[in-house]
Amino acid sequence: MHPLVKPALRRGWRDLNTVQFGMTPAHAMTLGPMDTATGSFLDLLDGARGLALLRAEGHRMDLPDGHVDALVERLSRAGLVDDAGGGGPAAQELREKKEVLARLGPDLASLSLITQEPGGAIGRLAARRALRVEVRGAGRVGVTLAALLSGAGVGEVDVRDVGRVQPWDVAPGGLPAESVGERRAEAARAVVRRAAPDRPPRRPGPDVAEPGLALVVVAPRDDVLVHAPDARAAEPLMASGTPHLYTGVVEGTGVVGPLVLPGGTGCARCLHEHRTDRDPAWPRLVAQWRSGQARRVGACDLTLAAAVAGLAAAHALAFLDGESPSGTGVRWEASVPALHWHARPVPPHPACPCGAPEKPEKTEATTGREAEEEADRDTGEKAEGEQASTNRTPHGTMVVQRPSAKRRKAADAARPTGTWRAHV
Ligand SMILES: [Zn+2]
Repeated sequence: MHPLVKPALRRGWRDLNTVQFGMTPAHAMTLGPMDTATGSFLDLLDGARGLALLRAEGHRMDLPDGHVDALVERLSRAGLVDDAGGGGPAAQELREKKEVLARLGPDLASLSLITQEPGGAIGRLAARRALRVEVRGAGRVGVTLAALLSGAGVGEVDVRDVGRVQPWDVAPGGLPAESVGERRAEAARAVVRRAAPDRPPRRPGPDVAEPGLALVVVAPRDDVLVHAPDARAAEPLMASGTPHLYTGVVEGTGVVGPLVLPGGTGCARCLHEHRTDRDPAWPRLVAQWRSGQARRVGACDLTLAAAVAGLAAAHALAFLDGESPSGTGVRWEASVPALHWHARPVPPHPACPCGAPEKPEKTEATTGREAEEEADRDTGEKAEGEQASTNRTPHGTMVVQRPSAKRRKAADAARPTGTWRAHV
């Protein structure tokens, strides 16, 4: 192991013997008591030295025997240390691609903030390269989202759509003006290729089965399909147990979610059934909207489309990285002009054949306000925690204040990337 104190976190001394790693409440933590000698030893944990060399340096600096190992272990357990050589063979392969890693440097640093184990961040980044994602819909949202996933290192991002690029499909980060008139799918794939930090992975030979789709993003250009997702079109995805995420813009509202884990969380049909329960006129309205004029140019605020593409891509990546994103079983909505995001839970419906287990609505998701309150509580908890760490540090032992219990729980729930298997 070549220990490296995570460079993504800025370091500062809160007092003579307490170090704070990080600035923001989400990821900052304090560690103490730490004497000055140990404090300056931290500078040597830069990934350039192995443990043997570090022990020798510690000896030279008159640190007690075993102190270096204890320090590294303590920092590792606090999630503050990365391993400059860790993460497995795929990570090593990525490390050798210097230009690719230079492009993905900020993403790697960001991943290091949410992975505990040394080498975990680059391991996740490397795992993205082997994943296949399909985006259905090459409009303002779909193409930008596909480019974001590709740029973030997802190995294969395919965009499906029909027809030719229209002037109103053009968006910064999405389809360029020069592509007007080209086939939508081809133009979108060109955008994806340009966004990729690396060449596409080699296709497997004819006798090797392609890896399955890790995720399908349904991002229709049609506003009715955004508002009322087509459950019938999702049947093959449900039958094959393919996770899928709905997103798009309808009128002045952006939609992200639900992320459907077939047989595990509420699906498009569950959503439809709940809406029909609440409003008996819902099916009649949907039928009228669907048979209405399809050729008109719908409303789609450019900045709203960008925000939707960003949030949907973030939820998709979190899922692909093995986290449980907040979009699971939830439909996030924001409307112009303020773009306040609200979470609308999509719990499983008893009349839906998808077989997702019913749970009390409360545990399915928190509403926007509850999420905000929870975030406030987290911040409060952290502030108190920081205070506590400086005021009541047991003598001789190092105390680590972690950001929040909720995040720890999320980390525990992390799956290996791309491992979702449905129980249908
Ligand atoms: Zn369902």
